[in-house]
Amino acid sequence: MLFYQPIVNSTSGNVERVEALIRWLRPGSSEPMLPDQFIRRAEATGLIRKIDCWVLERACRDAMGWLERDGRELSVCVNLSAVSIQQANMARIIADILERTKLPPRLLNLEITETAVIADPYAARRVLGEIVSLGVGMSLDDFGTGYSSLSYLKRFPIDTVKIDQNFVRDLAQGTNDGAIISAVISMARALKLRVVAEGVETEDQLAFLRRQHCETIQGFLYSRPLPAEEFEAVLATK
Ligand code: C2E
Ligand code: MG
Ligand code: MG
Repeated sequence: MLFYQPIVNSTSGNVERVEALIRWLRPGSSEPMLPDQFIRRAEATGLIRKIDCWVLERACRDAMGWLERDGRELSVCVNLSAVSIQQANMARIIADILERTKLPPRLLNLEITETAVIADPYAARRVLGEIVSLGVGMSLDDFGTGYSSLSYLKRFPIDTVKIDQNFVRDLAQGTNDGAIISAVISMARALKLRVVAEGVETEDQLAFLRRQHCETIQGFLYSRPLPAEEFEAVLATK
């Protein structure tokens, strides 16, 4: 099933986007299994293609529901695996899902990682270019943990950089993380990219990010990932 975690404006607290995060509910187990425990294996077996398509369709359907029922223009962010990015007909698949669900393309944002494109950057660039030309947005996830390649920032059609939670987590330790975060924020601003800081858990982290003019944050401080109905209840109060 899909859980949803709000991505909020760091000053107003308004929910601007939402990330869809998959969970595996297995018969006989009360705790849902986290993606880190099954995504890699699903990638190795190829099952990830079906999973990514299911997630896309479910997320687009839910986002269309929030738009129709509540008039909420919420962008839904969906993680795309390396396997899907290398799939030549991925843009067609996404176009079909958008058509079926009637979700305006600008309300879908796909999250990719550098490690997912590294195997074949040229093929990935073509597929991602086709996807973006549908009007869909694109985020670079976990930025700072992979190659942090500036040429990728330039060459890939992304509109958002997500600063990995590693840097946010250790902010208070007096390490270089604060310096790295402010450098990424200024670089992103210069390139006219939106920035999301992931893994924000404390008021101190939030205060630091606000001082750095980081416009959007995601993390347990605001909300954990929630089942759709619980997420909708949170939305109703904001
Ligand atoms: P991600 O895309 O970087 O997602 C953010 C992860 O950080 C999520 O873990 C989320 O629950 C967690 N998180 C959010 N706020 C906080 C916080 O304040 N503190 C801490 N400690 N963690 C926080 P999750 O849901 O376990 O997902 C792990 C990864 O699995 C995701 O990382 C993404 O790469 C992948 N994934 C999740 N859902 C999907 C999916 O539908 N399809 C594919 N292909 N991959 C997915
Ligand atoms: Mg993500
Ligand atoms: Mg991430």
